Amino acid sequence: MSREMDKPLISLHLVDSDTSLAKVPDEAPKVGILGSGDFARSLATRLVSSGFKVVVGSRNPKRTAGLFPSAAQVTFQEEAVSSPEVIFVAVFREHYSSLCGLSDQLAGKILVDVSNPTEQEHLQHRESNAEYLASLFPTCTVVKAFNVISAWTLQAGPRDGNRQVPICSDQPEAKRAVSEMAITMGFMPVDMGSLASAREMEAMPLRLLPAWKVPTLLALGLFICFYAYNFVRDVLQPYVQESKNKFFKLPVSVVNTTLPCVAYVLLSLVYLPGVLAATLQLRRGTKYHRFPDWLDHWLQHRKQIGLLSFFCAALHALYSFCLPLRRSHRYDLVNLAVKQVLANKSHLWVEEEVWRMEIYLSLGVLALGTLSLLAVTSLPSIANSLNWREFSFVQSSLGFVALVLSTLHTLTYGWTRAFEESRYKFYLPPTFTLTLLVPCVVILAKALFLLPCISRRLTRIRRGWERDGAIKFTLPMDNALAEKTSHV
Ligand code: NAP
Repeated sequence: MSREMDKPLISLHLVDSDTSLAKVPDEAPKVGILGSGDFARSLATRLVSSGFKVVVGSRNPKRTAGLFPSAAQVTFQEEAVSSPEVIFVAVFREHYSSLCGLSDQLAGKILVDVSNPTEQEHLQHRESNAEYLASLFPTCTVVKAFNVISAWTLQAGPRDGNRQVPICSDQPEAKRAVSEMAITMGFMPVDMGSLASAREMEAMPLRLLPAWKVPTLLALGLFICFYAYNFVRDVLQPYVQESKNKFFKLPVSVVNTTLPCVAYVLLSLVYLPGVLAATLQLRRGTKYHRFPDWLDHWLQHRKQIGLLSFFCAALHALYSFCLPLRRSHRYDLVNLAVKQVLANKSHLWVEEEVWRMEIYLSLGVLALGTLSLLAVTSLPSIANSLNWREFSFVQSSLGFVALVLSTLHTLTYGWTRAFEESRYKFYLPPTFTLTLLVPCVVILAKALFLLPCISRRLTRIRRGWERDGAIKFTLPMDNALAEKTSHV
């Protein structure tokens, strides 16, 4: 364990080859760090390169000094905390009490708590690590900061990682001092208020993609349903009714029939909540009633659902490129050629099939291209460079174009197959007919909303008009004032 701790994240040779880390001017502000682990080393490197004088307090400075940039002073804990006003506590919560012997030297100083609990610790302790530290050192001011920044980001620099540093403390002055340090180090401080927010900040690194949970489960659920449906139609039915072994289709062919279904339905689910919200507003005749919680959540997850739709569509494109590479496809081609020769047919060309395929391929490529535009513009760096109108044009109008193109792609793929009896395996309709259901409802609803009588009413509602005429106010006691109060 101790050997692993001795190993710096980035080779010390690289760190010290940066001349900015070799020496710091004497007049530079001094910062203390308690602990000499991964975080302390990365923090020291970043502080030194940002122009701070660093003094590290270790229980065994001799052992750890060689792991820090040469400009940082590594000494015993007592000596390290004596002069700096700001001291980072880079040790785990369970060792805080071992620092109590330093209470006198630390009195009146700012302690920066960078710690993160494990999930179990977070549930176990009701008070945050920072509040616990504050209770152990009542004469110090505790600031919670930098816990969401990894040792790696600190060492590599903010350009390569998360730039936001949430900060909280009960002392505004201390918070300002640490915020200024964060800015000098190239980070963006975010004021989280009093130390009571520390628990929320400590929960941040424990979350695993919270906004993606429901959309991912939704995509997985759809994938499993469509995969099972396609399996029954494409593999089970030939096996049971025709004694044909088509199980080789499971890894590529069935997956490739499933992916576009998931992508298409997910894309329609991006636009369905908007349709439901507009319908509710029209029915209620106001925009001032809250949507039900489930609709609120759905509206908030549209970006993730859209990105998952793009992911499935991109995979579908890749799988489709791979179809001709399969051995089974080559055998099928050769068998078809032999059949043709035996049947004495020289030229196989079905004009309608040729056109169908040309059109549906082209529409599919166009739909994927439009979806890629949506995905790119949902990246924060691109989204931030667009104004509100540009963003809503891309996400709303172009997104709807992508849905229409995907619908046309599906319709031309299906062509007349929905009306052929042989396509109903085990009496189950072809998969594409099922996928058309939700998107067609969305497209029809959107078309209805374009009708002047409905669109005018919807626009008025969204600008604050209400069917019942007025928002109800409690009348002021003064009569004259009451008369002046107009209906909104
Ligand atoms: P680490 O590598 O295990 O270092 C912990 C350090 O604590 C040790 O090197 C040790 O330094 C010091 N320490 C002081 N008193 C101790 C005691 N009684 N027993 C054992 N060690 C003691 O851990 P780390 O990764 O640097 O993390 C330090 C703190 O930063 C933790 O609270 C962690 O949650 C937080 N943090 C870490 C990261 C990260 O990416 N690593 C990111 C955000 C926050 P001496 O032996 O020199 O005294």
